[in-house]
Amino acid sequence: MIIVMRSGASAGQVAHVVSRVEGMGYKVHLSQGEERTIIGVVGDDRPIDRSQFEALDGVEKTVPILRPFKLASRDFKAQDTVVSLDGVKVGGEAIVVMAGPCAVESRSQLLETAMAVKEAGATVLRGGAFKPRTSPYSFQGLGEPGLEILAEARALTGLPVVTEVMSPEQVPLVARFADVLQIGARNMQNYALLHAAGESGHPVLLKRGMMSTIEELLMSAEYILSHGNQRIMLCERGIRTFEKYTRNTTDINAIPVIKQMSHLPVVLDPSHGTGKWEYVAAVARAGVAAGCDGLLIEVHPRPDEAMSDGAQSLKPERFAALVAEVRKVAEAVGRH
Ligand code: PEP
Ligand code: MN
Repeated sequence: MIIVMRSGASAGQVAHVVSRVEGMGYKVHLSQGEERTIIGVVGDDRPIDRSQFEALDGVEKTVPILRPFKLASRDFKAQDTVVSLDGVKVGGEAIVVMAGPCAVESRSQLLETAMAVKEAGATVLRGGAFKPRTSPYSFQGLGEPGLEILAEARALTGLPVVTEVMSPEQVPLVARFADVLQIGARNMQNYALLHAAGESGHPVLLKRGMMSTIEELLMSAEYILSHGNQRIMLCERGIRTFEKYTRNTTDINAIPVIKQMSHLPVVLDPSHGTGKWEYVAAVARAGVAAGCDGLLIEVHPRPDEAMSDGAQSLKPERFAALVAEVRKVAEAVGRH
């Protein structure tokens, strides 16, 4: 349920309602709009008797939130959430391009890629130090030394960094080095990890599980939100279908569906969505046309030598061409 306060309700009235709600054992999440305060009331699944709150001073009305996700829903917060990463705003008018290699492989590989993607227009650097691989015999990432290389690239380029965190125990370490904690598709329903990411308060890029519904993605975001962290970006990265000519099937539908149901920004990853570099630019353009707030693109200076995801990685010059094409689409839909 949400409690909508009258515009002009005093801080004392809001505090009184909050203390009543908490006194009944519910959790409170405040959303301070430009005009009025909205108090989200979240508890267990028992129905809440709303009438007892409607009589309180300063309350305009109460509204049930019927969807299973509450804090993630537009009913709770109508305005778009903008996640700010050291000055880079995700969820505003600008489409944010996050780019870099699938994995940090070496200092020279990452620094070379970081400079190239910055030059081409990326404003966030990606690169995995901890890699979730299907096979235990595949390259698992450089681990902490990889995080140190990312921090060096950040200092060199000024680009905020997004990198994957795979377990709750890793959250403090990764948060010390990176601006954004990436929760990968394979961990979308790792509830202990979602809990830890929520408590960290650090920005999170939450990727859709490869066999998860949009509702399941939003429920995972709800875990992070309910642990006190609103700085979440949702990422569509393709789902598994019967189609074999691409690695995954990019669910373009997810973009307008999520934008309608949730206030959280949506990032599209056409690299994992297609699995083949030839298709990445076309799907990136489609994503921007469909209303995504950002793109996550894999770039490698020598894709044939990449230790992971070479087939879907763009060479820097192809990435620069993609940015130029996407810029035109962004302008056509009133973004930049
Ligand atoms: C990645 O971004 O390199 C990655 C492992 O993505 P996903 O979790 O979507 O497979
Ligand atoms: Mn990858």
